[in-house]
Formats: sequence, structure tokens, C-alpha cells
Amino acid sequence: MNMLQTAKEIRTAQSVPSALERFGDIDMPDLEYTPAVARETEHLYARVKDHIPAIEWPVFAPYVHAINRLKKERGAVILAHNYQTPEIFHCVSDIVGDSLQLAREAGTVDAEIIVQCGVHFMAETSKLLNPEKTVLIPDMKAGCSLSESITGADVRRLKVANPGVPVVTYVNTSADVKAETDICCTSSNALAIVESLEEDTVLCIPDEYLAMNIAKQTSKKILTWKGHCEVHERFTADELLAYKEADPNIQIIGHPECHPDVIEVCDFSGSTSGMINYVKEERPQKVLLVTECSMASNVEAETPGVEFVKPCNLCPHMKRITLPKILDSLVFMKEEVTIDPRIADRARLAVERMVNLGK
Ligand code: SF4
Repeated sequence: MNMLQTAKEIRTAQSVPSALERFGDIDMPDLEYTPAVARETEHLYARVKDHIPAIEWPVFAPYVHAINRLKKERGAVILAHNYQTPEIFHCVSDIVGDSLQLAREAGTVDAEIIVQCGVHFMAETSKLLNPEKTVLIPDMKAGCSLSESITGADVRRLKVANPGVPVVTYVNTSADVKAETDICCTSSNALAIVESLEEDTVLCIPDEYLAMNIAKQTSKKILTWKGHCEVHERFTADELLAYKEADPNIQIIGHPECHPDVIEVCDFSGSTSGMINYVKEERPQKVLLVTECSMASNVEAETPGVEFVKPCNLCPHMKRITLPKILDSLVFMKEEVTIDPRIADRARLAVERMVNLGK
């Protein structure tokens, strides 16, 4: 078999039935805003009423109603990342969180089908940790600037150039990159993973700023790659200092994918889950989350009394996921995420090493 065959070509060659063939047809539901739809979605609207005007709800409600009915019919579970829009995050999802939380919790639910509302590397991670389940992503083009900054071939070249240096890869990467990796990390455990290694020099890829933020906290030499998150790289320290000057009581909480100069002026830095927990536990009067804009709206709905200042940096890839596309996923069983088993086995090892270290 040609080593360069794509997963799609392998599937075609082996005539594996499509997800639609395996799970069967289902009719596209009516999408009318009837009195029954209004009644049955009323409790869900209460969760998002501060973000969706009442006049717009009749457009959203039929999709929310249809998706919640169809996911039961299909035996599917919907995973939504913290950066998904409020109508997805609060009205149709079963499990919410950061990418690793989503993948790990998906393995604990009794559902054959996972619909991943997030970007492609997240769907791949869900598939890696749940290989027996069917994983769907509502838009296959939902990518990520960070994940796309590096390929498996790049990592192989890095290893040749730095023999004996262990490779720690951020979970925001493709399975192809994870397969070349010694161990994965998230933004919350990256420092602990680096510190757990015996070697004094560590390749920490592909996020340059995450690596720089770790380097400030360890005595090890950190080598990295020039990958950036296009959302977090837009924030500047000057911009945040201006918010502080306008209101010295504001708490600024930053994601470690931001430049170290930005993290320097933050009151707290953590992963998306770490940031959410901080707001829920500390209950600051006024807070600015230095991360993707939808997350502030999602946390705001759960933390009444906290005022959120929102410099709105949206992730265009996350915003590819919409209610109509989620409905299409459930009706037509698309798009199915598959990984070449030879890549999947090695990539899974790198993720499992990280998970086991956490235990
Ligand atoms: S927010 Fe950044 S890291 Fe997350 S998916 Fe978008 S580009 Fe990638």
C-alpha cells in the first residue's frame, strides 16, 4: 500500500460504508416556528435571552427544536467547545468544555455518534480517544491557524535537527503531527508535562507564545516553532493597559496562547476551562477575558452579577459551525472524521501519555 494514500482513498478502496449507509436515512424536519416549538424551546431561550433578541428567536428556535429531537433519534451526543456561539453552547450541546475535556467526556457517554461543534483537530482528538464511535463535524473546513502551521513532515525534520530532544506537542495539532510526538500537552498542563521530562532541552511546538510563556517558568531550555493562534496573537499589552487605566478595578484574565507581554499585564492566566473556573470562583465585579469573544458571552450567562468587558476577537474557523450545519450533520450523517489507523495508533499514544501523566 502506498504510504501517501489518504484516509479517504483507503476507505474508498476498502469500500467501508458511509455513516449515512450505516445509520440510515432520516427526513429533514419542518423548520416552522409553531406554538409547540415556541413552548418546547422556551426554557432554552431563557438561557440566551441576553444575547439573542426576542425578535430573532423564531429563526433559531426551529433549528434548536429539530436538532434536540434528531440527536435523540440518532443516539448522538453534541460536544461544543467554549468558543461556540451561545445558541449552540447553551441550547443544543450535551457536553461543553475545552478540546481535551470534550474528547475525554465523549468516551464516558453512551452514544454511538459524536457531533463535534469545534474545529477539525478537536474532532480528530475525539476520534482518537473514541475510535469505535462515529465522529461528525458540521463543517469539514473548520480549521485552525495554529494546527495548520505545522505538518508531520516538519516535526520529522525538527527531530533530525535536534536528535534526542523530546517533542511536546500542543493538542491544537493534526493527528499527523501528534503521531510524530513523544507526548501531547494542553495549555493547562504544558508546564507540568515539560517538567516531567528528564531532558534539559525540550521541543515545545507549535505555539511559539505558549512555549515562551512556559520558558519563563522553567529552567529547561525550550525550543519552539513559529505557530500562532490568529485570535490570541491580535491582543496587545498596550490595549489591555488602556482598559486598566480606564478602570483599575477590572480583572484581566488571559489565555497562554497570547504573547508573553500580554500575559505579563494579566491578573490571571489559564486555559479556557481555567479562565471559566476563575470567574465562577472569584466572581470579580468586572472582568475582561483575553480570548475568543463568544466565551465571554457563554460564561456571562452562567455568572450573573459579573460585568464583562468584551474586546471582540472572533475565531472565523469556530464560527463556521452553525445551527443549520449541525442539523445537516444529523440528517445526512456528515462530515465523518476518519484517521488512517497507522497514524491514529501513534497519535493516540501521545495523547494517552499526557492523560496518564495527569492521573
Ligand atoms: S481560537 Fe485560535 S487556536 Fe482556537 S481554533 Fe481558532 S485559530 Fe485555532
